[in-house]
Amino acid sequence: MHQLQTKIKQLLKPRTRRFHEHSSGWIEVFCPFCNDATRKHNPSHGHLYMVIESNYFNCFRCSEVGSVVKLLDKYNIHNQEVNRQLSSLRHSDISYSKVQSIVTGVDMRQLHSKIMETYSKTDKNIFQIFYNYMTRRCFGIDIVKYLASPTKQDGYVGCLFTNASNQFITTRLINHPNKRYANADHKPMYYFQDIRTMIDSEQIVMCEGVFDIINLSNHYYDFKDSFYVAINGNQYVSAIKTLIHSYLMIGGYTISIVFDMGLFREDQLIKNLIYTIQKLNPRIKLKIYKPTLSKDSSEFMNLQQIL
Ligand SMILES: [Zn+2]
Repeated sequence: MHQLQTKIKQLLKPRTRRFHEHSSGWIEVFCPFCNDATRKHNPSHGHLYMVIESNYFNCFRCSEVGSVVKLLDKYNIHNQEVNRQLSSLRHSDISYSKVQSIVTGVDMRQLHSKIMETYSKTDKNIFQIFYNYMTRRCFGIDIVKYLASPTKQDGYVGCLFTNASNQFITTRLINHPNKRYANADHKPMYYFQDIRTMIDSEQIVMCEGVFDIINLSNHYYDFKDSFYVAINGNQYVSAIKTLIHSYLMIGGYTISIVFDMGLFREDQLIKNLIYTIQKLNPRIKLKIYKPTLSKDSSEFMNLQQIL
């Protein structure tokens, strides 16, 4: 990572008069997508912020967003090795979802509703297995709202989830003898609300799994009116970094995390989370909860706040 950062600095510095590294890890430059550099006689700061480790930039002046690859391209810098390394960065996916949801304009609820309708008419058996499973895991829910739909994979019925930015998340296979989930390769985060509305929410609720976040949203009323995210794994720190870099860098928020039971090195993880948030946006307040009764939060909604 350090080498990649140094290389990008070397490539960019001769092309822009403003190159400022903030302690949060953001690099601030003049935005090449708008007249940022020439808006005044001698502007003292740029509006484009990039974070190399998330392969992401955002101009707070003209709202251009995208990958660092796209930014370098705009500067006419075409270094194959640098682009390859940037593209391989973990969790780089959510950086694009902001762009993607604007560009595609696909209403994911309509799409899922269409799939549901088709299955309920033509493949009633598949639909019934799917529907029974969903209601067993989540009780009474609006399945379309949570962007789930029936599917069949390797001969087994499953519940397929996408997020609101049209990224495939996972399929929960039902009755498969040895496989429970078929995940997307780079594990995008799951959210059923429009990602652009995250910045308007006071609270962001996070946990590991898709079913847990659905149940938190649907049954745990203390969190109502929040933005809900399942990180689709246990990489809490990198998920928090990605969310702050992409959406929550400016402004005050509460991030409430519901841990799974039996999390490995929980104390160390909490320390890392506090450190990361403090460094990136000290106005974010962190709250941590644990389920009190069973192993994961989907089974029961009794939460104990531990931070
Ligand atoms: Zn701009």
